[in-house]
Amino acid sequence: MKKISILGSTGSIGTQTLDVARNNPDLKITALAAGQNIALLEEQIREFKPSVAAVWDEQAAEDLKVRVRDTDVRVLAGMDGLIEMAAGTDAEITVTAIVGMIGIRPTIEAIKAGKNIALANKETLVTAGHIIMPMAKRCGVRILPVDSEHCAIFQSLNGEHNERIEKIYLTCSGGPFRGYTTSQLEQVTPEDALKHPIWNMGEKITIDSATLINKGMEVMEARWLFGVDTDRIQVVIHPQSVLHSAVQFTDGAVIGQMGTPDMRLPIQYALFWPDRRPMHTERLDLFALKSLTFERPDMETFRGLPLAYRAMAAGGTMPTVFNAANECAVARFLAHEIRFTDIWNIIETCMDKHTVIPDPSVEDILEVEKVIREEVG
Ligand code: NDP
Repeated sequence: MKKISILGSTGSIGTQTLDVARNNPDLKITALAAGQNIALLEEQIREFKPSVAAVWDEQAAEDLKVRVRDTDVRVLAGMDGLIEMAAGTDAEITVTAIVGMIGIRPTIEAIKAGKNIALANKETLVTAGHIIMPMAKRCGVRILPVDSEHCAIFQSLNGEHNERIEKIYLTCSGGPFRGYTTSQLEQVTPEDALKHPIWNMGEKITIDSATLINKGMEVMEARWLFGVDTDRIQVVIHPQSVLHSAVQFTDGAVIGQMGTPDMRLPIQYALFWPDRRPMHTERLDLFALKSLTFERPDMETFRGLPLAYRAMAAGGTMPTVFNAANECAVARFLAHEIRFTDIWNIIETCMDKHTVIPDPSVEDILEVEKVIREEVG
């Protein structure tokens, strides 16, 4: 049995991870955590029988305790609960499927406890990649990418050496507003932005995909995962989302991974790597593909991408400012308080005002996040 814990089990990645577990009976779920959706968490506890369940919201945790008092599960609450479920059980792998910077501390504690990390929560690497990657190396822990693009790069690097990477092609569907002008983008509503053409994901990442901030975060994530400078990571708009990303090597060879858009593949790959398990999903039909197209991103209109490159180049706490300002701005956009294009304006204003702290500690990162949250609201 391979034991895993899932931080964020009630979300898009979390529920798909449990689907992978349903299809692989040799996966044992030892711990689950959610923010507040205790109705779904209760169902998951009854089906997968973890020894620990954690809920961020203290009152919801109390309610869950009552609901599952006929089971053996230990219910925990708050940040201490998240840390305990991520690091304190006998799981070999912690799946970080939680959304936002709240994932940093449980991920770090899981690494210190020697758990391999199946990493979906990109905010962790964006803000604390300089801490996480060396720590994982010191602790002999693997960071296994779950993001489909990074999983594609990871698969393309099988049997290869990272020093032989010339360039990474990070593909991007372009989101629902590809080809829009700035004045068109000013009019889009949260309801429009939540309709992603290809992927069915949580709300925050769906908005991040529409602004291309998600792609900017993925550039930063790739930089930390594969040790490649951001100027060698080229974002490519590929609306069909068939090629999930590719690596160009120093001999000119380009190796990529193609497939249907189904997150269960990268999740399963991360959980069983270096094995490749069978999966009974829709197959890519090459004959049905009319064409695969590739374009340069429109960096002038979709300002999230150049802001991400700027944040990474500035380094230190700047990616935290980029990320925290985005988290707050997305929440305000979803609440209909600001326009779509204001998300970029808010990030840019916060970055312009910020004095970078080089090589920040976790405390510095969390302090900067707090300041930005107070500023942006
Ligand atoms: P969702 O919004 O669907 O799910 C988020 C999960 O995190 C839920 O289980 C939620 O619990 C939980 N959560 C939120 N806040 C807290 C908290 N304070 N404490 C504990 N748990 C909390 O997000 P996604 O699954 O879409 O994304 C998760 C992460 O994976 C993000 O970082 C995203 O960028 C990344 N990712 C997602 C992909 C996708 O296809 N969805 C692809 C690649 C990366 P509750 O339900 O109770 O609110």
